[in-house]
Amino acid sequence: MALETGICAWCNGRLPPREKRGRPRRYCSNACRQAAHRAKSGYIDWATSADVPLPDLSAPPAADTDEQAVLTLLELRTLASICLRLGIEARPRLAWRFGRLGDGIATLMSDLFGIDS
Ligand SMILES: [Zn+2]
Repeated sequence: MALETGICAWCNGRLPPREKRGRPRRYCSNACRQAAHRAKSGYIDWATSADVPLPDLSAPPAADTDEQAVLTLLELRTLASICLRLGIEARPRLAWRFGRLGDGIATLMSDLFGIDS
């Protein structure tokens, strides 16, 4: 997926100006790239997670709202699959909670948008 939205796929900040060569940027910084990669892989480094910028949910959408909606649904689908995987792989005290969370997200996405994960 190579959407050029002009906004960081992790923190919703503005991307720096595009360089003439190379792939379009998706993240505003290496910290955001790493945070997104860790989120996708399900890896959480609790020791350093305070240093990682969280997505800025209070920032107004920089792109048009249709693009924001699509990106949000893609991110939700990724989060649902991470939760479902944690529902299997996490320690039992957490696994059932993540399993229910993943099921809940997937059910709502299916009911509201017809998106199956
Ligand atoms: Zn960013």
